[in-house]
Amino acid sequence: MKKVMLFLGMTICTQAVSHAQGLGQAVADAIGSVTVTNEQVAQYSKQAVQQMDAKNPVAGPNDPYTQRLNNIIGPYRTIDNIPINYKVYAVKDVNAFATADGSVRVFKGLMDLMSDEEVLAVIGHEIGHVVNQDSRDAMKSALRRSAVRNALGSGSGAIGRLSRSQLGAVADGFLGAKFSREQESQADDYSYDFLKRNGKNVIALATSFEKLAKLSGGSQGGKVAELMSSHPDSKARSERIYERARRDGLAR
Ligand SMILES: [Zn+2]
Repeated sequence: MKKVMLFLGMTICTQAVSHAQGLGQAVADAIGSVTVTNEQVAQYSKQAVQQMDAKNPVAGPNDPYTQRLNNIIGPYRTIDNIPINYKVYAVKDVNAFATADGSVRVFKGLMDLMSDEEVLAVIGHEIGHVVNQDSRDAMKSALRRSAVRNALGSGSGAIGRLSRSQLGAVADGFLGAKFSREQESQADDYSYDFLKRNGKNVIALATSFEKLAKLSGGSQGGKVAELMSSHPDSKARSERIYERARRDGLAR
């Protein structure tokens, strides 16, 4: 379980910060010069997810959580021409993420906290990051940092084959990535549009933020730290959703 925690919670955020602060200008320049193609991002995203799946307890096909997730997802297996594969991680943390290859991972803790409609809203948000290519860009920068740290980028200016531990570092870097406020708003809008288009409850997006915000203020703060740190301003964001819903006549 210790391994799992490495990916999640406060650990990952502080790691990401210390890496960033520890990098000198020369290293920062080197990171910028490493070439990472979209094809490499797709390939390494898939590998990183495979490794995370191996490290985390994945709920089996007959697990009630998997069955519930299947019900929630229903027909949404291909979204915006991206084939999505879904899995539940049987860990208590309140988290979910999506990677550039269309893998969506939802944690048990998040499913315990949220209603079916809210889980779908969170998934819509995460898929928004994929469609908007935020996930691809986050992976790209994680790969660049890894290449420089491991000196893989020197000389050839390219990324070579990654060892398991290097891939683990890339996955950590990806999961610790912070999206900008604009990226978050756009992912929110994506989820809102997705829910609206499919006749689902758009307000669930707002209430999912409210639940996260409430939880992060409570004793379980550390457990939602990762999701919250990449998703700040829950109150402002939920108000934005209510405002859109009012304009659309969808407020409940
Ligand atoms: Zn987000």
